[in-house]
Amino acid sequence: MTLHAPLIEQTSAFGGNALLLTGPARVGKLELAYAIAAAQNCSGARGMYGEACGNCPSCHAFAAGAHPDLLLVEPRTTTTTGKAARRKLIPVGAILEGRDKAREYETHVFEFLEVRPTFERRVVIVVGAEYLGQEAANALLKLVEEPPHRAMFLFIAEDLKAVLPTIVSRSARLNVAPASDREVARALVQAGLAADEELVAFAAGRAGVLGGAEQVRAALNDARELDEALQTGLLTTLEHAEALEKRWDAAWHPEALRWVWRTRLPHQRARADTALDALQTALEAYASPSLSFQVFALRLREAFGEG
Ligand SMILES: [Zn+2]
Repeated sequence: MTLHAPLIEQTSAFGGNALLLTGPARVGKLELAYAIAAAQNCSGARGMYGEACGNCPSCHAFAAGAHPDLLLVEPRTTTTTGKAARRKLIPVGAILEGRDKAREYETHVFEFLEVRPTFERRVVIVVGAEYLGQEAANALLKLVEEPPHRAMFLFIAEDLKAVLPTIVSRSARLNVAPASDREVARALVQAGLAADEELVAFAAGRAGVLGGAEQVRAALNDARELDEALQTGLLTTLEHAEALEKRWDAAWHPEALRWVWRTRLPHQRARADTALDALQTALEAYASPSLSFQVFALRLREAFGEG
């Protein structure tokens, strides 16, 4: 989707080494980061905003998901003892091979940047810059200030205040704002998808929803079916809970359920949200999924006052 194509124009003239893309969840920051990386490496005829051509060797490598000059760094969820205290972190082991004791990262930033670019410019995308640990950030600073072979850093964060000041001060900031409903509808049509009203409203301007349009639609249907089942018998409710367990997509189902509940009374919604939080916590703690979904369905029936 090219919802944020006009922002690419701002970055094509950008001579610095580091950009910090901020904006709400699923607004399309990662898609934009990929588009910037593609534009920086494209050797073909550009689009009106300087977008990558889509046809040159570099663009083909991007489309195949195997671009030699792109490195994506993501946080890992660390589990300390027991169920509690699971937290996300980008450890120093992501940056320096020698410090990756647990061998969690296949490619490390420092070693990645020692190699010359195959095309124009090596690009490191750091997803969740707010999860950069102090040690990892320190290891990055020199690379960000004087990147080997003109490499570029794209830091992505939802919460600017949570990003270490050393990173913020060395990056030019680009705010990625939600698009209008009309732009979302147009992008859906351009992608050959139906621009139904519910999907556009659910997207609320977030390009990230468009990329998963089919999954979002499926999740909305499941959520609605469960909601309807709650108003019938207990057995039907439990059957739907079982079906939901099999189809559960942690990326979209929670938000789809909340969307379906949005017209409920506030106290009902609050109780349903609590039940959903409990389900997600149970699933993260690897509790028995089938039991967790049954409990969830029963708590929903209570929340909405039927049964
Ligand atoms: Zn190209």
